Amino acid sequence: MSSLRFKVVDEAFNRKAAPVEIPAERPEKYYAKFVFNRQKMFEYLPAATYAALINAIDNKEPLPRDVADSVAEGMKKWAIDNGARHYTHWFQPLTETTAEKHDSFVEHDGKGGVLEKFTGKLLVQQEPDASSFPNGGIRNTFEARGYSAWDISSPAFIMGNTLCIPTIFISYTGESLDYKTPLLRALNSVDRAATAVARFFDPEVNHVKSYLGWEQEYFLVDEALYSARPDLMLTGRTLMGHESAKNQQLEDHYFGAIPSRVEAFMLDLEIECHKLGIPAKTRHNEVAPNQFELAPIFEETNLANDHNLLLMSLMGEVARRHNFRVLLHEKPFAGINGSGKHNNWSLGTDKGVLLFSPGRTPRENLQFVTFVVNVMAAVHRHNGLLKATIASATNAHRLGANEAPPAIISIFTGSLLADILDRIESSTNDELADLSDKEGMRLDVSQIPEILVDATDRNRTSPFAFTGNRFEFRAVGSSANCAAAMLALNSAVAVQLQEFKEKIDARVAGGEELRHALLEEIRILIRESRPIHFDGNGYSDEWKEEAARRGLDCEASVPLIYDAYLKPESIEMFRKAGVFSKLELEARNEVKWEMFTKKVQIEARVLGDLAINHVLPVATRYQSVLLDNVSKVKSLFPAEKADKIAGPDMDTIEKLAEHSHIIKAETEAMVEARRVANRIESEREKAIAYHDTVIPRMETIRYHIDKLELMIDNEMWPLPKYRELLFIR
Ligand code: ADP
Ligand code: MG
Repeated sequence: MSSLRFKVVDEAFNRKAAPVEIPAERPEKYYAKFVFNRQKMFEYLPAATYAALINAIDNKEPLPRDVADSVAEGMKKWAIDNGARHYTHWFQPLTETTAEKHDSFVEHDGKGGVLEKFTGKLLVQQEPDASSFPNGGIRNTFEARGYSAWDISSPAFIMGNTLCIPTIFISYTGESLDYKTPLLRALNSVDRAATAVARFFDPEVNHVKSYLGWEQEYFLVDEALYSARPDLMLTGRTLMGHESAKNQQLEDHYFGAIPSRVEAFMLDLEIECHKLGIPAKTRHNEVAPNQFELAPIFEETNLANDHNLLLMSLMGEVARRHNFRVLLHEKPFAGINGSGKHNNWSLGTDKGVLLFSPGRTPRENLQFVTFVVNVMAAVHRHNGLLKATIASATNAHRLGANEAPPAIISIFTGSLLADILDRIESSTNDELADLSDKEGMRLDVSQIPEILVDATDRNRTSPFAFTGNRFEFRAVGSSANCAAAMLALNSAVAVQLQEFKEKIDARVAGGEELRHALLEEIRILIRESRPIHFDGNGYSDEWKEEAARRGLDCEASVPLIYDAYLKPESIEMFRKAGVFSKLELEARNEVKWEMFTKKVQIEARVLGDLAINHVLPVATRYQSVLLDNVSKVKSLFPAEKADKIAGPDMDTIEKLAEHSHIIKAETEAMVEARRVANRIESEREKAIAYHDTVIPRMETIRYHIDKLELMIDNEMWPLPKYRELLFIR
């Protein structure tokens, strides 16, 4: 019966590290080999074209058509020189993966043959048959017209033998159907708003960029074991499986040596990353067994996000070369840590100043405090929305589940920053009047620098932490497109800064000194956003109560968390930021609810199938083995003795029957709950029904299956167990 399980376990345990093709050259030679970056542009484009393209990129201007033709020609030449045969518009639909449709360069040459062509028109715009991408009803399918357009701020690259052109994806009427479009809008918005505020401190500032450094966590599983688990294959997580006797208790994995098979995979992945211009930098084991992390050097947010999406597909490919499967799911295994993707985020001016970095002079520090408190105010005002940006059916297994992010957004500042903010808040107007640039602030703001960076003690329970020169949004899920969180955060901060600027301008127009006006408004923001500041244990029950008292969003049901997108203050914020119209928000929420339902639906189906076709038959078979033994004992021994000898088996038989009954009954109830939910028209109500009536049944079914796993003869158990899945040799 269980021969398949033992076969795959054997195969996995005996597997050796796969060879890695290590380039003869050092990384600086092959870094960005497959990226059409400025250096390649310079090499492959006529001088005038190069200048026009750089100008368009740097000044966010549209690309003239004749320039596009010339760029396409040069890009094609470069691509062909590097083995490309096809091209694709690479875009980010609302499915949390990327999409591409490949066309070859081949065209008729009019003489019965072909030649390879690529024009500016094909480079700049395409109409993918997009009716099958989620659009929340914005486009009727009968006029399923959407188009993709080149995002010139992100360089084209070659993956396999395809030239990939990063694009936005929008409907014919201009609504965004993807993540990139609103992210770019948000980045423009925060650029404008933050530049205006940064000019209070340095009038020479022209632009403010948003930076993102993500930390991608993931699990690896041997491919033989993976293919013996239908739940992993179809849903990306284990829907059943009793905890291994040993998992992460000893915390030996985090600091442990990386197994050689994994090290080979990581090296291979790093080389591939570097060829694609992804600045992979750090790799290490994570807390759970078989869990790892890769982090790059941070980059401008749009590019960093493209690189993260690219990395996620690359990982899958490279893993296969090493007989691994990558699990990007937020919670592949119950009972051990899940995976997230910390989003390290900061703003920096074109003068090289990181705005969340304490400076050397009082003026720089006033700037630092200005930006930090505006972020705190934005996160406070939109804490429910920010939670909605990271909420998903898969991330829900981490949210509030006593690990990683609690289901309440709060900000950890560390005690040093907290002290500074306290002192600014409690200082009187007289004291403020004393402050002069020369003397430095009495508040020691001039003393912030280095200590802060080193002293940001690590509160790992905080979903949003200040870490010395940046904020770390830690609640983002490992499988998510970071853009969802980044576009909302940048938009909220942009609008907050806009309003801050208006208030300062009004005060200054009324005759107040700038420095005074800034400190006054800073104090108001510190006071207003006090409820979001929490340095304690984010997992504790006391915090849940306290957070509710503070008026923070404590909703824990994902379909209801999504409502935050449609609150008047969210709609207004996104409108002011120029990022989403109300129609777009409504459409996108339809997609979110639908995705939630579909994910749970698939899991419920797989679990039902496993329960009825894999687990219950084995329980029955084992029960019949025991029954056979009992009846033989009873026929051989006198009654009293027989009862004693067969007692333990009789006991097990009863328990097997009990668990089996519940599994059967709950599976039927789960199927019925699905039937009822499926008849609901509204996507929101349907998702709520799935959340409230289907998920609890899945949990019950799993509980009883896991009990059976502990009782049934190990030889008979059909699916690889946690202890087999989780420890790579
Ligand atoms: P941790 O100790 O949290 O793992 P690391 O020092 O490894 O942190 O950095 C994590 C990520 O933060 C990296 O991707 C790094 O490039 C990024 N990072 C560092 N400084 C900034 C910053 N100012 N803005 C954005 N990301 C940053
Ligand atoms: Mg970190």
